[in-house]
Parts: sequence; C-alpha cells; structure tokens
Amino acid sequence: MPPSLILINPWIYDFAAYDLWSKPLGLLYVAGYLRHCGFKIRLIDCLDVHHPGMTADPSTKKPTRRAYGTGKYWRREVPRPLSLKHIQRPYSRYGISLELFQEELSKIQNPKAILVTSLMTYWYPGVEEVIGLCEKIHPHVPVILGGIYARLCHNHAVENSGADLVATNHNLDSLLEILNNCGISLPGSPPGPDRTPRPAFDLLTRPEYICILTSTGCPNRCRYCASHFLNPDRILRDPGEVLEEILHWHRNFSVRDFAFYDDALLVSFDKHLAPLLEKLARLDLGLRFHTPNALHIKEITQGIAALMHRTGFTTIRLGLETSDFSIHRDLDNKVTEGDFERAVNSLLKAGFAKNQVGAYILIGLPGQSVDSVFETIDFVGKTGATPYLSEYSPIPHTALWKQAVNNSKYDLAEEPLFHNNTLLPCWDGSRIKELPRLKKRVLGIRQK
Ligand code: SF4
Repeated sequence: MPPSLILINPWIYDFAAYDLWSKPLGLLYVAGYLRHCGFKIRLIDCLDVHHPGMTADPSTKKPTRRAYGTGKYWRREVPRPLSLKHIQRPYSRYGISLELFQEELSKIQNPKAILVTSLMTYWYPGVEEVIGLCEKIHPHVPVILGGIYARLCHNHAVENSGADLVATNHNLDSLLEILNNCGISLPGSPPGPDRTPRPAFDLLTRPEYICILTSTGCPNRCRYCASHFLNPDRILRDPGEVLEEILHWHRNFSVRDFAFYDDALLVSFDKHLAPLLEKLARLDLGLRFHTPNALHIKEITQGIAALMHRTGFTTIRLGLETSDFSIHRDLDNKVTEGDFERAVNSLLKAGFAKNQVGAYILIGLPGQSVDSVFETIDFVGKTGATPYLSEYSPIPHTALWKQAVNNSKYDLAEEPLFHNNTLLPCWDGSRIKELPRLKKRVLGIRQK
C-alpha cells in the first residue's frame, strides 16, 4: 500500500465569494506531482460544491450554479472576527460543513503528512481552522502550509497558522526536500525535469471546468500586482503539451469549459499561443475558453481577436484598470491612449458580443478619486465593452504596498484581514459612500 498524503483546500471566510472558475490549481499541480512520485493522494476540497455528503438545511442553502461551471458555494453565516465587527455585512464560511470536513479527515488512516494550501491573505481564518482540526484528528502528522498567503504573509503564517512548516517556495522540487526533512521518503521516482505531471483535476468530485496554465510570470511590473513576487520567472510551456492536456480533460472527462490562468496569455503570441489556438480551431470540438485573469490590451490585434473567436473564446476580460493615463504612467504603463478602443473594436469586429467583452476597472487605489472611476466606467461603456469593478486589495511585496499602508486607516501590516477588498481599505469614508452610485452606473451600462 503506497504511503498517503492528505492535501487540503481550506474554506473561504469572507463577506462574499463566488466560484468564477476558481480552483486551487497550485494544489492540484502538487497532487499530480506527488502522485507521480508514488504517493496515494487524498484530496479534501472544502470548496467542493458537489460533495455528495452535503445537504441543504435552513442555515445552509444549496448553491446556485450558473453558466460554464461558475456559481455560488455552500455558505453558512458566522460571526465576524473582532477586527471586522464594524462592517455591517454578513460574514460567512464558504464551503462544506465543519462536520463533513472532520468526517472526511478522520476516514484517512495513517497519513504521512498533511499539505494545506492558501489563497487570499485575508482568508487565513479558514487556513487556521483547517490546521487546528488536522492537529486534533491526526495529532502527530506534520502539517505543511503553502500557497499565496503563506508566501505573501510568511511571518504572520509562521506565527499564527499552527502549521509545522510554512513553505516559502512554489517550486515542486523543493517540496520533496521538505518531505525529506520531515522523514518522508519517496515511494517512487520524481518526474524528469522536462515534464510536469498535469494537475490532478480528476481528484475533484465533478470537474465542470479545467484551469489551464500555458505560461507563468508576466513581463510587466504593475505596482499593485504580486505576479513578479509570486512567479519571478517567465516560463512558456510547449503548446503541444497544453493541447494534449486540454484534449485529455475533454475526451476522458467530457469537460467543455477551460479557464486560462496565465498572467500574460497573449504575450509572445505568435510562437506561444497561436500554434495552440490554430490546432484547437481546426479540431472544432465546441470547447469554450474563458480568461478570468485579464488579457493584456496592447497585445490584441484584429488577427488575434479573429483567431480567439474561431477557437471558442467565450468570456474575455481586459485589464484596463483606469482610463486616466496619468495614473497608468504612475502605476503600470501597460495601456496607452487608443489601445483600449482598438482592442475592443477588434474583438467586436471579430464577432464577440458586447457582454462577452468585459473590462476590469480598479477602484479603491490610494489617491484615486471617485470622479476618475466614473469617467472610466463611462469610457468603457462608450467603447461598447462591459465594465466590471474590481476592488483594490493591498498586497504585501508589491511596489504599491508602502503607499497603501500609509494611506489606510487600518493596520494593514499587522492584520491581513484588513487587506480584504470589500473594506476598500485605502479609501476614506466619503469615497466609500459613493460605491452604490458607482455600482449603479455600471449596472446602467450593462443593462443597455
Ligand atoms: S499585466 Fe497583469 S499580471 Fe502583469 S504585472 Fe500587470 S497586473 Fe500583474
């Protein structure tokens, strides 16, 4: 019997959460890798919406599912943490019940280690809860914490998470070293350096969509983004290998929806994405592709838009952030005048409907005025694209972090709960009051 490892995707604790092609891709890569090394992998996904053990009751409604595999999670309202008591909104634990989680965890006999992932820094209460229960149910089993919170708020995680070890690296080889340091030897051989096993989506109860990473890293250095810290190297995968991965999930699991997780999907298009899309377009399998991580506006040409349309791209999101080019010069330099209109024109001309082309607008940046957000919403509306407000969350290790800390009434450096974008932590009360009007303006454009 191969030795077992438990891998856990914790609950979300937040004011709101929605499954917009959100899967723990890093954890699933780890699962695929360690399975290849010979371990038996037991995955517990606290955000599993299809878990057969979940039943609706008066306090937990069955989650509504929407198009292309997106939708709501199971949700139970819980008391707000002390530091968020002043926010008059319901706060919830999203995911399966505590009881079901404990039942799942208790079923697994003699695990060698427990690996827990983490995402948003302000979701750490779910991480702590999971680790606390692991220690209760499997008291002598080492718990290793990885993921985004573990890397962005390393000291906080070391002091508070309860994990035996908090990983600082996202490298899969370094994980073997960690296991080795915990006295766990490999039952088999690791994969060769030229091929990473595909992420283990088959361990999910019912994969409705697959998240695909064709590359890591981003050549840009936007001051509000942690891409460079989290993925410093730009690595492009072989397009043939990505095609094989997409075909595997479609043919063996009947999956039709694929969400690209790349930070810079269209960069180096001709040598990287073009060969993949041309093959997919020729195969004409009726697949749908979504880009919840925004595309780089500058890269979109008439030809690229046409190929994307032929391939089956269905949800396009563009990283506009603002139409104020003085802000762009300060913050990211990724869009210049005329780029956005050209990109939207190309997409609409290629056959995309207005509601398929969305533009993210950042709101809540330090020093940003409400008027500039209104102007950006109207600007997006005039081009024929659909505006989406994207509330700014201050992120440690970004260039804007220091300014965010100085501009916030909250102690961002000490308490990750204050990074929550629902708080608009870098805006004062008078600007936050304008949020309903901003949302109304967005809605008005969407309903046109
Ligand atoms: S372009 Fe996007 S992914 Fe790249 S640094 Fe800017 S915000 Fe981050």
